[in-house]
Amino acid sequence: MDKFDILKKYFGYPDFREGQETLIDSILSGKDVLGIMPTGAGKSICYQVPALLLPGITLVVSPLISLMKDQVHALNQAGIHAAYINSSLSESQISKALQLAAAGQYKIIYVAPERLETYEFLTFVERVEISMLTVDEAHCISQWGQDFRPSYLKIVQFINRLRKRPIISAFTATATENVKEDIVCVLGLENPYILVTGFDRKNLYFAVESPKKKDSYVINYIREHDTQSGIIYCATRKNVEKLYEKLKDEGVAVTKYHAGLESEERKKNQEDFIYDNCPVMIATNAFGMGIDKSNVRYVIHYNMPQSLENYYQEAGRAGRDGERAECILLYSAQDVAINRFLLDNKEQNSEYTKEEIDAVRERDEERLQAMIFYCMTTNCLREYILKYFGEKGNSYCGNCLNCNREYEESDVTHAAKSIISCILEARQRYGINVIAGILAGDERAKLREYGVFSYKSYGNLREMNEVEIKRIINYMLTEGLLFQTNDKYMLLKISPEADEVLHGNRSVIMKKAKTEPEKEKESAVKSKSSSKTRRSDTLNSRGLELFEQLRELRTAIAREEGMPPYIIFADKSLVDMCVKVPLNKSDMLKVSGVGENKYARYGERFLDVIREYTGGVREKFYFGNP
Ligand code: ADP
Ligand code: ZN
Repeated sequence: MDKFDILKKYFGYPDFREGQETLIDSILSGKDVLGIMPTGAGKSICYQVPALLLPGITLVVSPLISLMKDQVHALNQAGIHAAYINSSLSESQISKALQLAAAGQYKIIYVAPERLETYEFLTFVERVEISMLTVDEAHCISQWGQDFRPSYLKIVQFINRLRKRPIISAFTATATENVKEDIVCVLGLENPYILVTGFDRKNLYFAVESPKKKDSYVINYIREHDTQSGIIYCATRKNVEKLYEKLKDEGVAVTKYHAGLESEERKKNQEDFIYDNCPVMIATNAFGMGIDKSNVRYVIHYNMPQSLENYYQEAGRAGRDGERAECILLYSAQDVAINRFLLDNKEQNSEYTKEEIDAVRERDEERLQAMIFYCMTTNCLREYILKYFGEKGNSYCGNCLNCNREYEESDVTHAAKSIISCILEARQRYGINVIAGILAGDERAKLREYGVFSYKSYGNLREMNEVEIKRIINYMLTEGLLFQTNDKYMLLKISPEADEVLHGNRSVIMKKAKTEPEKEKESAVKSKSSSKTRRSDTLNSRGLELFEQLRELRTAIAREEGMPPYIIFADKSLVDMCVKVPLNKSDMLKVSGVGENKYARYGERFLDVIREYTGGVREKFYFGNP
């Protein structure tokens, strides 16, 4: 068997996706590799396919128990012998698993990093051939990363202990240069083949909205998307609880997750969500790592997160199946205050020196600032994200709110002049919050302390609110009229170009979204039209009916087997069944995601439903061309 046979037979896919094949080839030629690909790109296949072709065992180090379990279930479903070793198993279960492994029962073994240095595990690896060591979520090894895990450093010691060095493959979705260098260096990759695919997730639609009432927005959204599964992230446990109660009162099937719940309840709620008993999950960012649910159709952020890194990771849990999904951030000025508070109270690593803590705080502040700018930009949101992660975007993606919104140009020269004068009057000693506060004539105590009430500029832009003033400041920053100092204070400074504005030789024209009422109307229309997923764009009403029947069967099987539905078949496979209308085995094997093993297990039952529904006569269940 070659890699294509394996892809077809076990995973049911006809072709590799971008990047997969070259990574697999490199591994098979004995090279170390590092694959940096966004969530949903298909990293797992890059090590699972070669694992089946290499002579010995592949060990996969993975940080999360739930993730391992999911992966192993999926592999077993596909007919691949795999197991996991972590603290969710009892000692005797672990011994049993290792015994079977030593007897050659498993090709792929997932293992938690802490296990690597246990005596039992070390004796086990002495006795078997380890062909490859795969490090999943490899960014956890970097202290520069967002989720550094000290236990990941054990991987290095482990490799050094092995009699024969295996091929090492590492995978992550984090692309920053620091993290990349750390992975190569700390893991000791030898002359590795490094592949970085684009970070763009084309199927995700991005939007930032500032509704007056976030609760009503969320309730309406869920109503319009009532058959779909989604996650709503809140910044605090309190917000989770409040929103949860509200939605429950509205009769929505919701569940919740945050670190304040008992672990039993967390587990149950998570399963309710994964098994589609409760399609809507309200959670803090404690939820989601290791959640592989592929049919999440929307991720709404009720509050702005602390960084774009967090945002892209959380939002990226939508649409892992490659189908259209929406990522909506609900922004309000209060979110900034909440985040500053959270940062100020963040628990710092006690091993850090004061300088290091300051450095961390400074980086956090920069990240937060970039996040705020995301919420304020009128340019393409996707471009903003891609640029942040060091990639080039187009200035128009056509699949974000800003690209779809109508703007009017507005002359903000007068306000710009007031802003510049104010910064000069303050002798360039303050940041964006104070400057906007002065101009808006805000009365908060802090400003009194600074003695700015006597400024000539004080209250000069009273007719605007602070958010509007900040938007203009933000625009001036992007135009290079102003800049910020590179420290944690981020003081606003004037650049030479600002002189032209001040002396009346240059006007400042800013793109502004149309006025609020129109905007709301528009976005209501917009979200109506976009609420339809590709499924209902593709399938006609007969097709949708068949899809529902297939989905019911999938739910029934999932219950019987105690598996999440998406592990049986992805939505995408069900849609493909409606498009291809398979009536026999060979037709069925052409459906995306139907491999031989899955066919043997479930194929006939799905065929029965299709035959019954069509009476054995193929009809067209979709619009246009498939
Ligand atoms: P990642 O780990 O990069 O986030 P996964 O490995 O979980 O992504 O893959 C995401 C989804 O894409 C899974 O449902 C997987 O089965 C699917 N997939 C992976 N490779 C292919 C392929 N070559 N063709 C079709 N689907 C694929
Ligand atoms: Zn765009």
